[in-house]
Amino acid sequence: MSDCIFCKIANGEIPSATLYEDEKFRVILDLGPASKGHALILPKAHYADIYEIEEDAAASAMVLAKKMASAMTKALGCSGFNIVQNNGTSAGQTVFHFHVHLIPRYDNDQVRLGWTPGKLTDEMRDEIITEVKKQL
Ligand code: AMP
Ligand code: ZN
Repeated sequence: MSDCIFCKIANGEIPSATLYEDEKFRVILDLGPASKGHALILPKAHYADIYEIEEDAAASAMVLAKKMASAMTKALGCSGFNIVQNNGTSAGQTVFHFHVHLIPRYDNDQVRLGWTPGKLTDEMRDEIITEVKKQL
């Protein structure tokens, strides 16, 4: 993807604040951090989102998220950690190259993630289970 900024960053064509790099991934600091240490896992191969990424790459991204969360928690002294991965405009995705947000959390920080809990009705539960099972 010649016009994808995260392809260029992941592959080193554009410089970035890199915390980690291997054959398949680069981990960079987010330029608009939600909290101190907010970082992004970028695969070097281009996948737009969770629907496109290969299963092996998705699995490796989660293993790397665990490794980074452990290292960053020790390094930064955060008291919690969010792993966030957005897909589609409605879900807040703004860069259409798969990435995983690593968001260190601190007591009384200013990070706002969340939703207002609804109510799972019996009818909705049954419909969702039936429809999802058809697709698996
Ligand atoms: P998302 O909304 O999940 O697509 O996240 C995109 C993230 O990429 C945001 O947190 C941005 O702050 C971050 N971002 C966008 N451009 C850059 C860049 N050039 N370097 C580092 N982070 C970036
Ligand atoms: Zn890309």
